[in-house]
Amino acid sequence: MNLEDYFNELESYLKIGLDGKISWKNFFPQLYNLCKKSINIIKKEKGLKEKIGSFLAYYKPIAVLPDERKIKRVKQGLELVEKLRRQYLIDEPEVPHKDLPLKTDIKFIRGVGNKRATMMRELGINNIEDTFYFFPRDYEDRREIKAIIDCYHGQNCLIVGRIINFEEKKVGTLKILSYVLEDKHDSVIVLTWFNQDYIKRFLQIGMKVAVYGTVEVEFGRKQIKNPDFQVITSIKEVKTGILPIYPLKKGLYQNSMRTIFSETIQYSHNVKEFLPEEIINKYQFITFPQRIKGIHFPKSYYHLEKAKETLKYEEIFLFEFSVLIQKQKIQLKEGISKNIKGILAKEFIFSLPFKLTKSQIKVFEEIREDMKKAIPMNRLLQGDVGSGKTVVSELALIDNYESGYQGAVMVPTSVLAKQQYKKLKEDLEKLGIKVEILLGETKKSEKKKIKENLLNNQIDVLIGTHALIQDDVIFKNLGLVVIDEQHRFGVKQRLALINKGKMPDILFMTATPIPRTLAMTLYGDLDVSLITEMPSGRKKVKTVLVKENKINEIYKFIEKELESKNQAFFVYPLIEESEVLDLKAATEMYEILKERFKKYGVGLLHGKMSSEEKNNIMEKFVNKEFSVLISTTVIEVGVDIPDATIMVIEHAERFGLSQLHQLRGRVGRSKKQAYCFLIVSQSVSGETREKLRKFADTTNGFEVSEIDLQWRGPGKFFGTEQHGLPDFKFIDILNDPELIEKARKDVFEILKKDPELKDHKNLKKEIYRRYGKSLKMLEA
Ligand code: ADP
Ligand code: MG
Repeated sequence: MNLEDYFNELESYLKIGLDGKISWKNFFPQLYNLCKKSINIIKKEKGLKEKIGSFLAYYKPIAVLPDERKIKRVKQGLELVEKLRRQYLIDEPEVPHKDLPLKTDIKFIRGVGNKRATMMRELGINNIEDTFYFFPRDYEDRREIKAIIDCYHGQNCLIVGRIINFEEKKVGTLKILSYVLEDKHDSVIVLTWFNQDYIKRFLQIGMKVAVYGTVEVEFGRKQIKNPDFQVITSIKEVKTGILPIYPLKKGLYQNSMRTIFSETIQYSHNVKEFLPEEIINKYQFITFPQRIKGIHFPKSYYHLEKAKETLKYEEIFLFEFSVLIQKQKIQLKEGISKNIKGILAKEFIFSLPFKLTKSQIKVFEEIREDMKKAIPMNRLLQGDVGSGKTVVSELALIDNYESGYQGAVMVPTSVLAKQQYKKLKEDLEKLGIKVEILLGETKKSEKKKIKENLLNNQIDVLIGTHALIQDDVIFKNLGLVVIDEQHRFGVKQRLALINKGKMPDILFMTATPIPRTLAMTLYGDLDVSLITEMPSGRKKVKTVLVKENKINEIYKFIEKELESKNQAFFVYPLIEESEVLDLKAATEMYEILKERFKKYGVGLLHGKMSSEEKNNIMEKFVNKEFSVLISTTVIEVGVDIPDATIMVIEHAERFGLSQLHQLRGRVGRSKKQAYCFLIVSQSVSGETREKLRKFADTTNGFEVSEIDLQWRGPGKFFGTEQHGLPDFKFIDILNDPELIEKARKDVFEILKKDPELKDHKNLKKEIYRRYGKSLKMLEA
């Protein structure tokens, strides 16, 4: 029993009283006993005995009070327990003896040195400040020294005793060291190490040690395997408390890290509190040194919880600030108020071979209204694969051109860039709009010409990949930026492109619809337009799960489709055979399928081809020079082949659902019925199969996203590096929507009253410390 347990017991007792489960006559005597039982623990804490004394006195007459006053007293008691917890279960680090700046290199900390510093740097710990935010992955409860007799099987125990015996054994190749430890109550426990001969150098008979580990009991014999140990001369030296377990790398040890960290966190006293006072009060948060102490060396589990709570809020609060400040900066800047007549757009719509859907018209109107306003447009266009986003972006580019500005379109891959280029050229040049393409691989002389023409206003719309954001790509008067498949780009890349104009309008497009809270968290107050319907006459793609050994039946089916002049995709996760994974690689399968479907022509496309080769193949496929395309995921986004009705995805279990959805979206882009076959290995788990089945049952991108996001978590969902989402330690972006919402509101309130954070200097400093890089990009 410790103080925390005592408070918990007190609280549960009061709650039971509140629920009327104890007779009021017995209420006080039992409360008294509960406190008396713990008197030794209470006496240890300064001033606590007196407080508990008056607390008890308050309850003495409770049996004779009117009912409502009884209840009131018990409720007050609960509040008091909470106060006591805050006072006695939370502490802060000692004040450091030296005065070191927070940026002091870690190697100067006692016990670190050059060698250890190098290893710590690999973990991202460079200076004192970094240690604050290098969080433990777990904790060990070493608050109490246990008597051996009280330790039960499976329990983690801290035991102090003397080594009274030692034995060394060899079993096969295994060398076993056993030490017998005896505690002051004369009970014994065996400590065992396997193949760790070096232990002999540290432990000898007669030594006094503290050990910690999981106790095993077998036929009454107690044992700890590979315990953590500390040789001591006096019990006072034993490291007690709730101790951190850090996620370390080879060569670093928990013990030494604990010593180092217990020193460095003292410097948390030098951090000026950056959470506003009103926020700390509102949520009863704890101070910076308290929360840093609480996450590394909590005084109690209550302390740990409070620290986590505060750090979690801190994390999302600061992130929301960075998002909203970004938004604020964009809005503060004067955008372009475009004068749109809409004559060209009308002409274009008239020339289309189809009628726009209602959804397309609606989102186009939203975009047009935005572009007319002086506030820069910041709009996300969400629409499922095949819903016709491209046409909408073309309309926006036409309006933009008509009002006298250049447009830029950024896409994630060069295959896609080329296809888009071809389409835009076809559609827009007849309206007199000059379209150009710029890629990383574009020839130097060509690039030079493009850049010149861009400055001379000889180019109206420039399409490209990341090449667009290079410093020397300068527009004469950029008015609209379209970013396709925007989740593929990071915040920095987006901002870089935006900075190429005087606050151009921005249209983000995505076929990976994300839940609204998440969209808000990520993009601030981005306005969202939704295409909710598919072009009419589209048939839903039929999705079928197929076991590997049934593939031949699928081939026969495909043959029939090919006979009717349709086309088929085969997609593989790898391009070369890997013995380890035993995946059929695209290149290898190409050899086989080339024979199998000889009659219809077979082509191969993969990421290791030059983009000229890739483009060549794509073009031939579009022109139906062959009917089967074997490919890796390079075809994933955007590619448009109207006659493709078959999509075969091998090793479907290796793909994310959003990726599968994108791939599936490559077919069924006309009035014909299309099919998607997901080939899965027999060894795939039931869980995965279930997930794929869910996927097969829906063609709705929002549902797919939802399933995928829950399944993989936001980190993987958005891709690893480029999602612009920080590596959150505490907040769960999917499952904490209420907290995120609260933090957003708080941030709003603060920015409303103090838009430049003049009265929140420490806060501003901390926001810039964490997110300065992307915020500064908007300062130009
Ligand atoms: P995505 O939203 O996936 O980018 P696209 O813009 O590439 O979709 O459109 C998919 C296909 O649908 C294209 O071939 C396009 O020409 C066609 N399309 C777009 N809008 C319509 C419409 N309203 N009616 C019929 N077909 C359309
Ligand atoms: Mg598209």
